[in-house]
Amino acid sequence: MVETSLEKIFLHQKAASLRLRKQDISVRLEFLSHLEKAIQNNLEDISAALVSDFSKPKAETLLTEIFPVMHEIRLAKRNLKSWTKPKKVKAPITMLGTQNFVISEPRGVCLIVGPWNYPFQLCISPLICAVAAGNTAFIKPSEFTPATNKILIKIIKEAFPEEIVAIVEGGPETTQELLELPFDHIFFTGSTRVGKIIMEAASKHLSSITLELGGKSPTIIDSSANLKIACEKLVWSKFINAGQTCVAPDYILVQKNIINDFKSIFIATLNQFYGSSDLEKKNSPDFARIITQKHTERLQELIQNALSLNAEIITGGEVDLQNRYVAPTVLHKVDPHATVMQDEIFGPILPLIEFKDIHEAIHFVNERPKPLALYIYSQSESNISAILKETSSGGVCVNDSIIHLANPHLPFGGVGPSGIGSYHGVHGFRAFSHEKAVLRQSWLGILLRVTYPPYTGLKMKI
Ligand code: NAD
Repeated sequence: MVETSLEKIFLHQKAASLRLRKQDISVRLEFLSHLEKAIQNNLEDISAALVSDFSKPKAETLLTEIFPVMHEIRLAKRNLKSWTKPKKVKAPITMLGTQNFVISEPRGVCLIVGPWNYPFQLCISPLICAVAAGNTAFIKPSEFTPATNKILIKIIKEAFPEEIVAIVEGGPETTQELLELPFDHIFFTGSTRVGKIIMEAASKHLSSITLELGGKSPTIIDSSANLKIACEKLVWSKFINAGQTCVAPDYILVQKNIINDFKSIFIATLNQFYGSSDLEKKNSPDFARIITQKHTERLQELIQNALSLNAEIITGGEVDLQNRYVAPTVLHKVDPHATVMQDEIFGPILPLIEFKDIHEAIHFVNERPKPLALYIYSQSESNISAILKETSSGGVCVNDSIIHLANPHLPFGGVGPSGIGSYHGVHGFRAFSHEKAVLRQSWLGILLRVTYPPYTGLKMKI
C-alpha cells in the first residue's frame, strides 16, 4: 500500500512522540520558547493578516489573539515542572505499604482543528497545551482565513520541525482525510454540527476528544442591574469581532419594567463606541467585517426572517453584501420561533426578549440546548443564586461578559451540545495528558496471599 504524505508525517510524528516521552521537560520548554520567539518576531504580520482576512481592528487582535497566547505560553513555562510532577494519592488500609500516584503522560499524536473567528488564538492556544503535555500535533486551520494561515505556517515552521508540529491547510475534505488517521487525541473548535462529525470519526479509532463548540449564549439582565455598566460590557462583548465570537451574548433577556431604559442606554453606548450615525458606524475602524459574503447573506436572512415575524429594528439593520458589512443591529419583539432565536447568530445582531420574573427567564434558558456561556447582570443575590443553581452552561460571568475565558485558572469549555472537555492553563495540560494510575507494591504485598486460591478453610469464613 502507498502511504499518503499525511500518513508519512503521521508515522514520523508517532516516532517523535515516543522519543519525546523519554526526554526531560526541558525539551518541551525549549519548544515553547521557540514558539514564543516566533510569535514575537511576527507580531506585525499577524495583525496585518487579520486585517486582510476580515478587517479585524489591530487593538482587537492584540487583545484577543496575541495577549492570550503569550500569557498561555508563559503560564505553561512557569508551571510545567509542577504540572508534570507525579501526584501522590492515598491508599485504603487493605493496601498498606503501597505507594500510589498519578502520572500525567503525553497522549501521543494529536490533531487540532481550528475555526475562522479567532484563527490565530484558537490554533495556537491548544497547541501550547499539546506541546506542554509532551505531544506532537497536526494543526488544520480554517479554510476561510488564508492570510492568517500563511503567517501560522511561517511561525510553526520557525518554531518546530514537522515531526513535532505539522500544519495542513484545506477545507472539510482535508479534515476528513486527517480523521482517517489514528490520532491519540483530537481537539476540535467549531460548530456543534461539525463537532458531531468529529466525534463520530474519533469513535473509529477511539481517539479521545475535546470539543469546543458553539450555541446561543444568553444574557439575563434584571431590574436591579446597574444599566450603564451593563450596557458598556454588553456592547463591547457583543460587537467585538463583529459578533463573531463563540461566547458573544447571543440574545438578551431583559426584565420587562426596565426595557425602555435598557434600550436607550444600550443605544447611547453603541453610538459612543462606534459613532452616532449609520455612516459613522460603517466607517468605524473599530468594527470588523463578516468573514465571507456567504456568511453575510446568512445574517441578512436572519434579520429578514425576524422582520417577517413582526420583530422591530431598534437600531442598525443595514447589510452591505459586497463589503461584508452588517451594521450593529438590535431587534425587539422577536418571535422565539424566528431563525435568529433558533440558530447561533455569530454576527452583530442582538435580539431582546422580555421577561416578567426570574423564573420565567430561567425557564426560557432551560427550554433550550445547554449554552457555552451565560451572563447575569443583577445586584440581587437571590436572583444570581437561582440562575447559578437552576441553569446549566459551560461557564458563567456575573456582572460581566466573555472575560471568564481570559482567566487561565478557570476551565474553558462547554457542556453537552456546547462542548465536551475544557482547556486553558492546567486544564489544557490535562486535556492533552492521560492520567496514568500507578500502584507500587512493597514487601507487605505478601499479605495479599490470603486472597489467592484455593479458597478453602479460613478464607471461606471471612
Ligand atoms: P465549523 O464547524 O464550520 O468549522 C470548524 C473547522 O471544521 C474548520 O477547520 C473547517 O474546515 C472544519 N470543517 C467544516 N466542515 C467540516 C466537515 N463537514 N467535516 C470535517 N471538518 C469540517 O466552524 P466555523 O464556522 O469555523 O466556526 C464557527 C463555530 O465555531 C461557531 O459555532 C462558534 O461558536 C464555534 N466556536 C467555538 C469556540 C469555543 O471555544 N467553544 C471558539 C470559536 C468558535
